[in-house]
Amino acid sequence: MKLTDLSTVRDIMSRHGVTFRKQYGQNFLINPTVPERIAEAAVASDGTKLGVLEIGPGIGTLTRELAVRADKVVALEIDTALMPILAETLEDCSNVTVINQDVMKTDLAELCQREFTDQGYSLSVAANLPYYITTPILMKLVESRLPLDTITVMIQKEVAARLCAPAGDSEYGAITASLAYYGKVERLFNVPAGCFIPAPKVDSTVIRITLHKQPPVQVRDEQTLFRTIRGAFAQRRKTLANSLTSEFAALGREAIAKAIEKAGLEPSVRGERLGLEDFARLADALDEMQA
Ligand code: SAM
Repeated sequence: MKLTDLSTVRDIMSRHGVTFRKQYGQNFLINPTVPERIAEAAVASDGTKLGVLEIGPGIGTLTRELAVRADKVVALEIDTALMPILAETLEDCSNVTVINQDVMKTDLAELCQREFTDQGYSLSVAANLPYYITTPILMKLVESRLPLDTITVMIQKEVAARLCAPAGDSEYGAITASLAYYGKVERLFNVPAGCFIPAPKVDSTVIRITLHKQPPVQVRDEQTLFRTIRGAFAQRRKTLANSLTSEFAALGREAIAKAIEKAGLEPSVRGERLGLEDFARLADALDEMQA
C-alpha cells in the first residue's frame, strides 16, 4: 500500500469513515520523497538500538519510513478515529507502538524512560508537526530534558525562519534565543504546500535541532535567563532597559540599568541584538541584583 498515493489516502479514509480534522492540524504528506528525507535526517545512520518518538503519525506515512531505519518507534496520536487506520497501515511494522494520547498531556520523561532508555535505546524525535501547536510542542520537548540526540520536524516555513534567525535579524526573537540554550537549530529543506492533503495555506520547512549535551552558557539561575530573554523582547521597539522593566518590575529602573552596565551592554541596545552569551551575562547581573 502506497500511503503517499492520493487515491490510497482517500480510499483508506473513506473505508474507515474518517475525515480530515482541521482542529488537529491534519495535513497528510502525499509526496513520496519527503517522508523518506525526514526519516533519513531523523535517524542516525550508524549505531544500534536507535529509538524514535514520533508525534502525530496521521495515517502512518512518515512512521513507516522511520520504522525501516530505526530499531524502535513510538508514535503519539491524539485522534482516536485514526487508530483503526494505523492498525491497518502499520500492521507489518513490528517495531512500532502507537499510543492514542495528546502529546501536551503526556508525561514525556516517564514515557521515554519506559519505552526507550530503560531498554537501552537512544532517542530522537521526528514529526510533521500540527502547525496550531508547533511552538508549545517544541518547548515541551526541550524543557522536559529528555535524553534526546536530535529533534527533526517539519514546521511552517515562517516559524522555521524565526527559529533559525541569527541575532540582529528581524526574525530573531525570544523563542530563537531560548531554543539556542537547548540546541543547535539548522534548516534542512523546504516543502511546498502541494505536498500535502489537504494543502495548507503555507509552505513548510524541515528543521533539525541537535541537543547540547551541556548548555553552551553557564548561568546562576536558568529561570532568570529565560525571564531576561522574555523581558528583553517584551517590547521590541523599546530599548533593553525599558523593555526589561515589566519582567523585572520589582528591581526598579536603577538596578536594571546597573545590571545592563555590569553585563557590558549599552542601555540603548535592543534585545534583538543580543546573543545567548549576552543574555547569560545580563541574567547573572540581574540575578545578583535580586539576591
Ligand atoms: N505524520 C503524518 C504525515 O506526515 O502525513 C500526519 C501529520 S499532521 C500535520 C499532524 C498529526 O498530528 C495529525 O495526525 C494530528 O491528528 C496529530 N496531532 C495533532 N495534535 C496532536 C497532539 N496534541 N498530540 C498528538 N498528536 C497530535
